[in-house]
Amino acid sequence: MPEETPPAQARLVLATRNAGKLRELRALLRGKVPGLDVDTQVIDAAAAGAPDVVESGTTFEENALLKARAVAEATGIPAVADDSGLAVDVLGGAPGIFSARWAGRHGDDSANLDLLLNQLSDIPADRRAAQFVCAAALAVPGGTDVVKRGELAGTLLSEPRGEGGFGYDPVLQPLGAERSCAELTAEEKNAISHRAKAFEELLPSIVDVLR
Ligand code: IMP
Repeated sequence: MPEETPPAQARLVLATRNAGKLRELRALLRGKVPGLDVDTQVIDAAAAGAPDVVESGTTFEENALLKARAVAEATGIPAVADDSGLAVDVLGGAPGIFSARWAGRHGDDSANLDLLLNQLSDIPADRRAAQFVCAAALAVPGGTDVVKRGELAGTLLSEPRGEGGFGYDPVLQPLGAERSCAELTAEEKNAISHRAKAFEELLPSIVDVLR
């Protein structure tokens, strides 16, 4: 039995409190499911009264699934969740799932970025490969789970560049690009991002469930 009572019209919950992610998911779903009104029927965790979920997994996939499953069971409607971060080759994939709190305090983007640049200060440009990674998961109450992964590969710069984006955007230059992610427009980044790729991969499963 669901523990929470989401609005009656809700058909899909995004297990996040991040308004930007909700906007992105609604944009991705718009026009894809006949009869689905994304603005009223796709809601976020707060609107669904969903609980906060402890990210106790050890991989992006595990954390995304954990969040989606907990929210689906709590609300009784299908839930989507993601987990993302930066994986640096020379650090063996770190900061990875610890990306948001690499310098110790959750969400301190500039401290995280400074620490990473200091750790890599002696590493030459040709050995600074890294990728943004995103796992996106769908969980259906009493049903199956699906999880998909997207990556954005690039090289870490030695100095932050650009004012856009968030997190590690100023230091990741996508392969083949001459600007950092923070120098791309939102549209340019969305066209190549790890999050967009993971959600695009998950889209057929979401459409199937909502059809
Ligand atoms: P979460 O998936 O929202 O928990 O994000 C985890 C952390 O990974 C963020 O706080 C950022 O530090 C980093 N991260 C994830 N995606 C991006 C991105 O697109 N740009 C820059 N940093 C990112």
